[in-house]
Amino acid sequence: MTDTQPATADVVVIGGGLMGRASAWRLAAAGLDVVVVGGETAAAASTVAAGMLAPVTETTFTEEVLLGLNLASMQRYPSFAAEVEQASGLPSGLRAGPTLSIAYDADDAARLATLAAYLGRLGLESSRLTSREARTIEPLLAPTVRAGLLVPGDASCDNRQLLAALTAAGERVGVRAAAGFVHHVASAADRVTGVVLADGTSVSAPTVVLANGAWAGQVTGIPPVPVRPVKGQILRLDPGRFPQPGVVVRAFTRGTEIYLVPRDGGREVVVGATVEELGFDRRVTAGGVYELLRDARLAIPMSTEYVLAEASVGYRPGTPDNAPILGRGVLEGLVLATGHHRNGVLLTPITADVVAELVLHDRVLDVAAPFGPERFDRKRIDRERIDRGRVDPVAAGHREEDRRC
Ligand SMILES: Cc1cc2nc3c(=O)[nH]c(=O)nc-3n(C[C@H](O)[C@H](O)[C@H](O)COP(=O)(O)OP(=O)(O)OC[C@H]3O[C@@H](n4cnc5c(N)ncnc54)[C@H](O)[C@@H]3O)c2cc1C
Repeated sequence: MTDTQPATADVVVIGGGLMGRASAWRLAAAGLDVVVVGGETAAAASTVAAGMLAPVTETTFTEEVLLGLNLASMQRYPSFAAEVEQASGLPSGLRAGPTLSIAYDADDAARLATLAAYLGRLGLESSRLTSREARTIEPLLAPTVRAGLLVPGDASCDNRQLLAALTAAGERVGVRAAAGFVHHVASAADRVTGVVLADGTSVSAPTVVLANGAWAGQVTGIPPVPVRPVKGQILRLDPGRFPQPGVVVRAFTRGTEIYLVPRDGGREVVVGATVEELGFDRRVTAGGVYELLRDARLAIPMSTEYVLAEASVGYRPGTPDNAPILGRGVLEGLVLATGHHRNGVLLTPITADVVAELVLHDRVLDVAAPFGPERFDRKRIDRERIDRGRVDPVAAGHREEDRRC
């Protein structure tokens, strides 16, 4: 850290991705002195992501509680994007829906029908389409496509534009940056006192927001945060003079899943993404790129004409239940905003609101209540089961004294 870098603040935010920047902007706009220790922007999942805003098409069996949070964030998006644009003078990247899911073969069509039935049971809006109807909406689809499902509410947001706009909006309300990485959170008498950076310098603050995505488990000085990196390889194609899809296309192709996300102005189509449990493996592999291009071609044959402009790797911040960790840490003054896994672009508006409500009013928004870090506290869960008589305390490894802690 140089002499010009900050040494004290009201709030230190760890991480310069969408969660960190959106939270910092909200807190500084409310009058707090905020420092962001940003890490490396190029490595952030927020830079790499595709930017689908897909609470409906991303819905997965068993994740119905998460669906509520996803829908709440989607509802906030239009006003959030307008506010960011006004505050920064830059485009937010928001692009209206619909999203078109398609099935390539008969097995894929059966899977799409199951998804459609599930969405219907949840009361989520979607309409099943024949192949012809799907191709009327998106003429670039392969004629062999079997069936479609139109989801009017799912949209997209150019995450790189959003990150740039949030950074600029933050700077305009006084957010300061400290270059580098946080090594540990400093504390005394069970409350945070600031952070110490990898270069040994420190920033003192009574509040620390942990928002460093897949790296959240690496910061020491706090109890371990159960976040792991879920690697994703992703491509950016430049359509050049060729037409690009008019809508976000998600495709089941011979049992695998792929998406093509067009940007405004025909400048880019994002094709993603692999899902790999390989830790922080930075390699773009021949197999990863091959599979993405192969499946993109099955859905949209025209995609083989596009220029391969970028192949990159990002790390989704995964948690044991695939839902984010939003809430107070065990140390007073510590706020957690991480673990957004495959929905972090979508969850940016609600995360900023949850963090602001916690820091400014010490209140957990109702919609965020199920996502506190305490849900991973093994001892607490065991204690609750013991109290309900469901588990033998000795088998659960607890002594009487533990129960009084
Ligand atoms: C391939 C891929 C595709 C995706 N597609 C979508 C999508 O279509 N829609 C969607 O909603 N979501 C998508 N996601 C998920 C989304 O990108 C993430 O959930 C979201 O970006 C996480 O944001 P974040 O701010 O928590 O973390 P990040 O964006 O990863 O930012 C964390 C930052 O913290 C920094 N950092 C790390 N350690 C430290 C430290 N010790 N001190 C200071 N800084 C530190 C890092 O350098 C990084 O800049 C995708 C993710 C991937 C990988």
